[in-house]
Amino acid sequence: MKTKIADLEFEPLIKSAAIEERIKAIGLQLNADYQHCIPVFVGVLNGSFLFIADLIKQIDIPCEITFTKLASYYGGTQGGLKIRDDIDFSVDIKGRDVVIIEDIVDTGNTAHYLLDKLKVKEPASIKLCSLLLKPKALLKKIDELKYVGFEIENEFVVGYGLDYKEMGRNLKDIYKRVK
Ligand code: 5GP
Repeated sequence: MKTKIADLEFEPLIKSAAIEERIKAIGLQLNADYQHCIPVFVGVLNGSFLFIADLIKQIDIPCEITFTKLASYYGGTQGGLKIRDDIDFSVDIKGRDVVIIEDIVDTGNTAHYLLDKLKVKEPASIKLCSLLLKPKALLKKIDELKYVGFEIENEFVVGYGLDYKEMGRNLKDIYKRVK
């Protein structure tokens, strides 16, 4: 069913049941990959708040969770190179195994920016986990991108934490822009 958010129209792209199932699979993979250590999950707010919450419930190995806030969209549908950040962790990641949890990788600029900033803190390892990836929009390969929920076309999406003009984050499914 179509839905309208502000001036744009959207239709369902990924149903909540599919999201749930994929998150369970990623959780299993993370539990296996990090069973030898206590990983630090770095959630990137705001868009990934539901993904972080649902994913972390699938993790059954000891772990730590911290958050950072980045934004490159400023509430519209067009990304910008300008990135606002608030990297202020309560956790010292030096020598730790870090997994960044992102909502979506579009051009990849935000991910590269964050990875560069975190690598300076000398973690033992660093990987990226993103619910969504737009392969056709990616400007530069991200070697650290190991966990991806769904690959999507180059289209603007909302729902399940992702917003348009700060709205639509509450939708259970992910919707794509049609008009
Ligand atoms: P990138 O730096 O990879 O171009 O963009 C990453 C950020 O842009 C994401 O974390 C997200 O906040 C925003 N973004 C990219 N594509 C979309 C989209 O289709 N929908 C929404 N709501 N945000 C997006």
